[in-house]
Amino acid sequence: NSDCLEYEILWDDLTVGEEIGQGSCGTVFRGLWFGSVVAVKVFSKVEYSEEAIQSFRQEVALMKRLRHPNVLLFMGAVTSPQRLCIVSELLPRGSLFQLLQRKTSKLDWRRRILMALDIARGMNYLHCCSPPIVHRDLKSSNLLVDRNLTVKVADFGLSRVKHETYLTTKSGKGTPQWMAPEVLRNESADEKSDIYSFGVVLWELATEKIPWETLNSMQVIGAVGFMNQRLEIPKDIDPLWISLMESCWHNDAKLRPTFQELTERLRELQRKYTIQFQS
Ligand code: ATP
Repeated sequence: NSDCLEYEILWDDLTVGEEIGQGSCGTVFRGLWFGSVVAVKVFSKVEYSEEAIQSFRQEVALMKRLRHPNVLLFMGAVTSPQRLCIVSELLPRGSLFQLLQRKTSKLDWRRRILMALDIARGMNYLHCCSPPIVHRDLKSSNLLVDRNLTVKVADFGLSRVKHETYLTTKSGKGTPQWMAPEVLRNESADEKSDIYSFGVVLWELATEKIPWETLNSMQVIGAVGFMNQRLEIPKDIDPLWISLMESCWHNDAKLRPTFQELTERLRELQRKYTIQFQS
């Protein structure tokens, strides 16, 4: 069908270079595609079911239509039972997780607010698609950073194929640290589950720490999913930022804000910091 032709990339047209990252489902390489520098994510499972390939094709047809300055630009995919790859723009600074953990570029609060705004705007765009795109795996390693420190949302819309890869390779550990309590309890996930994860990213931006670092996956599931515990918030953070995080972490998902509301509240915070800086 015409959708397939529109995004299909031939493996032989790609020049795959050095490895730039590893995820739970595969490996990401620097690549060249007709003179453009690209990122090539190669899923690690060797053989896919026809069903998984079909759903992968549907997802990539959809991703191909997305255009937003805060959403990673998708260029196409290699789809065959033996090899599934995603080709996208390459963001030179890697993930927000790496940026925060390397602690080499000290981020001031105005920059952190800008980054949070980038993520909220990209996510708002995905949630406003029809039908809405729920990310389901929003976390700092899926947020990529451009040369000028713009943040873009990556790795959305692939929950099905990722699930199949994950179940068969068991190479990763999963990431319950970012998952909403209802997702940890295996109940339904919707837009509001992404809002919870965004709250964890706000916590990472504020603390530069790894969420629930001392707990294993089962302990996080127990603490957040069943005992209603939340990450500890340092006292010296701006109260507005604290209230943003807390609103994202509501146990009752319906009470969590939307990305539209979060964008407005972050812009308020941005105005406050601009005024402080000027005076
Ligand atoms: P998971 O598979 O659980 O989602 P992940 O997000 O870390 O984990 P990948 O999406 O495979 O896994 O990405 C692995 C790493 O590769 C990222 O954390 C990032 O450092 C790097 N990376 C991925 N895509 C790009 C890209 N387009 N540009 C630059 N670096 C990238």
